[in-house]
Amino acid sequence: MQNFKKSSKLDNVCYEIRGPVLREARRLEEEGHRVLKLNIGNPAAFELDVPEEIQQDVIYNMHSAQGYVESKGLFSARKAVMHYCQQRGIDKVDIDDIYLGNGVSEMIVMSMQALLNTGDEVLVPAPDYPLWTAAITLSSGKPVHYHCDEAQDWFPDIDDIKSKLTSRTRAIVLINPNNPTGAVYPRELLEQVIELARQHNLIVLSDEIYDKILYDGVEHISTASLADDVLFFTYNGLSKNYRAAGYRSGWMIISGAKHKARDLIEGIEMLASMRLCSNVPAQLAIQTALGGYQSIEDLVAPGGRLYDQRETAWELLNDIPGVSCVKPMGALYMFPKLDPKRYPIHNDEKMVLDLLLQERILLVQGSAFNIEDRQHLRVVFLPRVDALEDAIKRLAHFLSAYQQ
Ligand code: PLP
Repeated sequence: MQNFKKSSKLDNVCYEIRGPVLREARRLEEEGHRVLKLNIGNPAAFELDVPEEIQQDVIYNMHSAQGYVESKGLFSARKAVMHYCQQRGIDKVDIDDIYLGNGVSEMIVMSMQALLNTGDEVLVPAPDYPLWTAAITLSSGKPVHYHCDEAQDWFPDIDDIKSKLTSRTRAIVLINPNNPTGAVYPRELLEQVIELARQHNLIVLSDEIYDKILYDGVEHISTASLADDVLFFTYNGLSKNYRAAGYRSGWMIISGAKHKARDLIEGIEMLASMRLCSNVPAQLAIQTALGGYQSIEDLVAPGGRLYDQRETAWELLNDIPGVSCVKPMGALYMFPKLDPKRYPIHNDEKMVLDLLLQERILLVQGSAFNIEDRQHLRVVFLPRVDALEDAIKRLAHFLSAYQQ
């Protein structure tokens, strides 16, 4: 009997955030164990609900959301995104430059499918949000990882980027604020990346899905606001800033040197049409979200829930002997390092599995974010302070006796 096999397109595609360790966690839960999940940035799972007004408007408008709409998305929603661009200083964005998708995830995959030929290279941060690497690989491109320097607040290493440019490089990905490191990039750094894009005719792909989740007064600068002679794709959505991850509502904005991209834009439009349109009830949430006081600012200000959780997690992680962690300035994650002298880890997926089995805590191993070393973990600081205290205490206990 012949077995059905997955296509060879998927041979090197990895997305381990929802990999085998999560399946093991589910099994434990089915057996009745309580697992503390610090593995996925899903605000609603931690009683961080979608603002009431957004929920109500989606319910109220449900009746008018029954049919397909234009492939790029509802006019009113795209208009709201257009106004958002104006507020963020991204100039000359027309309603036609905005594409709504079933989350940013769909727009990442769609744009990589439209852009890449076999062997085309895209510069991707290491560590990255692994969908980027997976989407590029799935689209027969080659992800080339550039180094983000932990000793420099996890900022991209410009010299490393320069050393990895080739005649096949088509684009560079920025994730800002960053998942998994929490870094928020300063203007000068963004300008340096834009200058490289200008010189080497690259598209700048800027994933800004956490652009309102900022701490300690740090400013977020939208990359595309800094130039109009380079082609930018900017990605954003409702999953994080508005805690509406389950609505699957995101968008992509094309700006800057659009005149150089007519053919590519035709390709994106075709792919958008092939899937008819994105989920319409979720499109109806966009205007309310972007138009009102709906966001997450109160939660990230001093004394707010996310602020307090970040403080607690960061302090407790750094208190563990041999663990160090750069303080995140944005987003929902920390990426602590285990000192290799104290904890020589050969297989970080096994370590995360052992942690799950021994302490019932679920984290993601650093290697899932496409870094070379095996000395990092990603911690989501969405749980409430008491749950974080419990989890990190258990992590400390686990590490105190752990050997591989
Ligand atoms: N980009 C980054 C950096 C993310 O962290 C995530 C989700 O965690 C996404 C994109 C996907 O977002 P969406 O829910 O809009 O598909």
